[in-house]
Amino acid sequence: MQCILCASLPVNVRTSRMHEHLVQIGLTQRIARPGKGKAAWITHYACSQCHTEWKHTDDPYDRAAGWSIDKEVQCAA
Ligand SMILES: [Zn+2]
Repeated sequence: MQCILCASLPVNVRTSRMHEHLVQIGLTQRIARPGKGKAAWITHYACSQCHTEWKHTDDPYDRAAGWSIDKEVQCAA
């Protein structure tokens, strides 16, 4: 179950807005595109409140690239 902050995060829109409980996992990956100019950047985050795992894509050529859910943790209770 997502927390209210994750539930209100805009998905599939080009934005860098994030919420205060997201914690970055690992390093930002640079996705190079030889011959096509600017690279895309992919960063993974996890929410410290609801443990939803997010992927953020920063792609200058894709307006729909932004937040997407990597893994939604189901509530056991
Ligand atoms: Zn959350």
